[in-house]
Amino acid sequence: MNIAIVGGGAAGFFLAIRVKELLPSARVIVFERSGGVLSKVRISGGGRCNLTHSFAHVSDLSQVYPRGARLLKRLFRSFDHRAAYAWFEAHGVPLVTQEDGCVFPRSQSSESVIFCLTHHARMLGVEVCTGVKVKEVFRSGNGFRLDTLSADCPAASETFDAVALTTGGAPRGEGHDFLARLGHEIEPPCPSLFTFNIDHKPLTALTGIVAEKAQTAFAGTKFRTDGALLITHWGVSGPAVLKLSAHAARYLCEHNYRAPLLISWSGTNNAENVAAELAALQRSAGSRLVGNVRPEYLQTRLWHYLLSRAELSPEKRWSEVGRKSLNRLANVLTADTYAMVGRGTYKDEFVTCGGVSLSSVDASTLESRSVPGLFFAGEILDIDGVTGGFNLTAAWTTAHTAAEGIARRLSAPNDGR
Ligand SMILES: Cc1cc2nc3c(=O)[nH]c(=O)nc-3n(C[C@H](O)[C@H](O)[C@H](O)COP(=O)(O)OP(=O)(O)OC[C@H]3O[C@@H](n4cnc5c(N)ncnc54)[C@H](O)[C@@H]3O)c2cc1C
Repeated sequence: MNIAIVGGGAAGFFLAIRVKELLPSARVIVFERSGGVLSKVRISGGGRCNLTHSFAHVSDLSQVYPRGARLLKRLFRSFDHRAAYAWFEAHGVPLVTQEDGCVFPRSQSSESVIFCLTHHARMLGVEVCTGVKVKEVFRSGNGFRLDTLSADCPAASETFDAVALTTGGAPRGEGHDFLARLGHEIEPPCPSLFTFNIDHKPLTALTGIVAEKAQTAFAGTKFRTDGALLITHWGVSGPAVLKLSAHAARYLCEHNYRAPLLISWSGTNNAENVAAELAALQRSAGSRLVGNVRPEYLQTRLWHYLLSRAELSPEKRWSEVGRKSLNRLANVLTADTYAMVGRGTYKDEFVTCGGVSLSSVDASTLESRSVPGLFFAGEILDIDGVTGGFNLTAAWTTAHTAAEGIARRLSAPNDGR
């Protein structure tokens, strides 16, 4: 039995290991286009590899998976973040869970994860061919053949009983044409997880300042998230921005990354509540200067900037601030509006939204509905998560599922393919 796995990343290796465990006598070959494997795992989590998450405060998977939550909920019944955690620990990678739920190798190095995956693949007899770009997969009799752009790799000319595509996200739609020709629906690819560009010098002059409890939204949409927000040279970043970019990835793509961004610096969009808090501050601050007494969640420089947005002088005494000014300030603290004029493109584009539509695969095995024997796992599927280890969790889970699907398919009696 020959099994080809196209793509030597997180999903490809995890799948290769699992399928070889299930079918020890099968020949399992990973084809990787570049000169090395697992390159994204190496740079993941800033080189520390945030390989999963505790999911402790995740009550609804769609909060962390803008696309794919429903399918993952089902697949997690067989293999979830706990199973991934246990798997890595059992395979020699001790882990630690941070306070925020992110899970890292105790070594704080992605090399531990790479060593684990490559070592266990080698021990099981998985073959790896690097420098082999698979251009297309096509049916040949009862099996599959690969059309490759390759260095010397005789294995690439074999016929395969099953093929798993684990080629990752394809921001420019690489490899989607032949999949569409084979009958798969393709959700158009768009980047996800990026920072926002805002052309407003007084804001970007505050580079480095963090608003710990911000809320972000796009006016006129349902997209709203919260978390810390970091002001950068080009606009804004931080969890509240990256999360919003993931949830609104398709909307932003369709609007050419131009949209009205609302920032709540107070973490709520309830201006009345914030006005009441400001009125309480006013009562307690008495005759002190507005510039010197601020809500505790704002840093002084940011406070002064927001006062100027509300046309309030920091030299004024709190007792001199009228009702109208207080309400104007409450509005700035809850719905400060900026024109987003583009997205960050340098190093902060982590995952692709879109890819092989989930309607094109069997929800229990991730086998293609139109091409039996062809399986998918990882970011090639239209599944993506926010930051925090959710994307690698999806890679482990889908790889595990597809491996079991392949084993079932190849152990089944003649299926009339
Ligand atoms: C900078 C960065 C940091 C990240 N940090 C984290 C993190 O800490 N936690 C987290 O959960 N997620 C993180 N992610 C996301 C995560 O790395 C990916 O979601 C995950 O690696 C997807 O795994 P995959 O196996 O599907 O794809 P990939 O890891 O992209 O692997 C696909 C492989 O297929 C190969 N390939 C592609 N086309 C072909 C072809 N035609 N023929 C042969 N080979 C091919 C590619 O070269 C690649 O090696 C990060 C991503 C980036 C870019």
